[in-house]
Amino acid sequence: MVAHVLVEIQARKMVKTFTYLVPHELQDKIQIGIRVLVPFNNRKLEGFVLKIDTNFTSSYELKNIIALIDNHPVINEEMLELGKLLSKKTFTNLISVYQTMLPKALKAKSKTIINKKYETYLVLNSFDNNEITSSKQKQIIDLFKDKKQILKKEANKISSSAVKTLLNKNILIENKIEDYRLNDDIVKEEKKVVLNNDQQNVVNKVLKFKQKFAPFLLHGVTGSGKTEVYMHIIEKIIAEKKEVIVLVPEISLTPQLVNTFRKRFGKTIAILHSGLSDGEKYDEWRKIEKKEVMIAIGARSAIFAPFTNLGLIIIDEEHSATYKQENNPRYNAIEVGMYRAKKYNCPIILGSATPSIESYTKAKMNYYTLLEMPKRINNTLPKIELIDMKESFKHGYTVLSKIAIDKINDRLEKKEQIMLLLNRRGYTTTISCPNCGYVHKCPNCDIPLTYHKTYHKMTCHYCNYQTYKINSCPKCHNQKLLDLGMGTEKLEEKINDIFKSKMPKIIRMDIDTTRRKGSHAKIIEDFKNHKYDILIGTQMISKGLDFPNVTLVIVVNGDASLNIPDFRSAERTFSLLNQVAGRSGRGKLSGEVIIQGYNIDHYSMVYASKNDYLGFYKEEMAIRKVLKYPPFYNLCLIKLRSNIANTCLVEGNKIVKYLKNQLTNEIILGPSACSLPKINNVYYFQIIIKYKKINNLIKPLEFINKQYLMNNKIIVEIDLNPNKI
Ligand code: ADP
Ligand code: ZN
Repeated sequence: MVAHVLVEIQARKMVKTFTYLVPHELQDKIQIGIRVLVPFNNRKLEGFVLKIDTNFTSSYELKNIIALIDNHPVINEEMLELGKLLSKKTFTNLISVYQTMLPKALKAKSKTIINKKYETYLVLNSFDNNEITSSKQKQIIDLFKDKKQILKKEANKISSSAVKTLLNKNILIENKIEDYRLNDDIVKEEKKVVLNNDQQNVVNKVLKFKQKFAPFLLHGVTGSGKTEVYMHIIEKIIAEKKEVIVLVPEISLTPQLVNTFRKRFGKTIAILHSGLSDGEKYDEWRKIEKKEVMIAIGARSAIFAPFTNLGLIIIDEEHSATYKQENNPRYNAIEVGMYRAKKYNCPIILGSATPSIESYTKAKMNYYTLLEMPKRINNTLPKIELIDMKESFKHGYTVLSKIAIDKINDRLEKKEQIMLLLNRRGYTTTISCPNCGYVHKCPNCDIPLTYHKTYHKMTCHYCNYQTYKINSCPKCHNQKLLDLGMGTEKLEEKINDIFKSKMPKIIRMDIDTTRRKGSHAKIIEDFKNHKYDILIGTQMISKGLDFPNVTLVIVVNGDASLNIPDFRSAERTFSLLNQVAGRSGRGKLSGEVIIQGYNIDHYSMVYASKNDYLGFYKEEMAIRKVLKYPPFYNLCLIKLRSNIANTCLVEGNKIVKYLKNQLTNEIILGPSACSLPKINNVYYFQIIIKYKKINNLIKPLEFINKQYLMNNKIIVEIDLNPNKI
């Protein structure tokens, strides 16, 4: 018997399947999808068993498998297949795809071994009263009055030596049970919400197709009660013993949603997201694999949850960029979701208040069934006002407009809460010299350094380079430097200053204040419990959060995201403004929103202020059509990076020449420097292909990919349907 084993030989940048003999003692234990240890030259490598062959003959001598790493397959048959498909679609080797699909602890090369965690329990055996020889022993026995088993830890608190004696006498028996790291107690809520008509209609339509592959796009405004709809459908699906995957964009969305789900569904949920330790992730994955849970909630990679009887997939905030992985394998969780839903003949729901232009187009073309919830549960959408900061500036209001200040004062008096969005962290964003024009930049990236007052450093947000703040110009020694741009740190200081007399309690939420585990959830919890009046934050605060007492949202620089050179920047701006506006007036009180900016005539801002998704969609589609962007054309990005800028240019030109030879109907642009051309001393260039049909493209792309695989001067990666360009 032989096994075909997929291994990665890192020294040679090679991934290959090799054939090994299965020694007798392992023959009835080996299975497809488990990891094994195999010899390679003088080393031992871990690999995945892809195939087992009982009558294989070879003309040369084969080596033996050394050992099996797993007792059960870590990759089931469905995942083996899916991996092969993704490997092709993402131009990435198979082993990295499998590694992406598994929790880190199970990757076939992981160095740190994560053990299962066990908890020891004690069980009481039958005994004679005269066997109990001390009062401590008696106390321990009494612990079993109304329990079948108790934690050994608990008994040891009374007396560990008495526990030992009882164990020796066989009166107590130890019982080791696999324990999970994330086992905090949750109280199941028996709250039954009565759905409104729109919600009930959506639930009915989805359930009609519960035995079929049926993709839905749920377009529901913020606060229309999508979460409740999801939960009602899930209840019906799990009642039929089928399993459910729920994807959410990122950890910042998870604490509230996860809590809502756990209160409803109790322990039948596994949680998979990047905020967990490797051990916790592994435990959650094991719960799914052992069929102890029916629902998996998580970020992108949770789409690979190893369920084998899926009945529903939900992808919340489907427009979110996080569903596409930004490094190899560049898979899209929505596409994987579609694949799995087809496989299991089950519905898949994409939900959003601002569907991506592509998804909404698919709904209009009837690839997806469109479901709409146009009204809020409380029936009032917030009133949104655009404020021109050019005017405001003239009157001396540079950070907040007069109207914003008045409204904040009003809410502070009424004891209602306020959220402020500023999509930049740090204190100031550029330090420059007005005398000679010097700008203090990162030496590795050529990008201005951001000053962080809290830790007195200038840092690069791209490569993390840090240096001390300069007090004079290194070029002309001018002492009066200009601090430009404002980040959340400075905004917090300004707000404290402007509203000094009212002494508002302010909390800030951005990457800098949420680095510690659990700090993110704590800020949300504290703000919800009104320990603070004002929440200042980056786009982290824009999505999914539900604070009923927030009645005013202020977007400090609503047009900042329009300056990013990308065909999706208008779409992103519209969606961000809509999401953040949606945080206001979600409870009994009605809400207001103020969006400040210098470009308030831009259509993305105008439609956002009217809460008009369809208006925005039509205008954006007209522009996409003229500029030949998705959904009218598909995009393929070829990314080149090298330590030498010229290498990017030379190789880029070769690739473009080759492509122009191979392709006739496609538009090929580049090579050109990326909008951030240098990060950490590496140069970035790109080639863009606009295409209608993928068929002609595959062979040339595979060829290019192969050509550069072994090249150590330049890295060339292919990104089909990229999120950003
Ligand atoms: P969305 O996800 O669409 O923005 P949510 O699901 O967060 O909206 O719902 C908004 C609020 O309305 C939540 O506080 C939720 O508990 C409440 N809610 C949802 N459905 C109902 C209902 N049928 N009756 C009463 N309250 C509801
Ligand atoms: Zn840098």
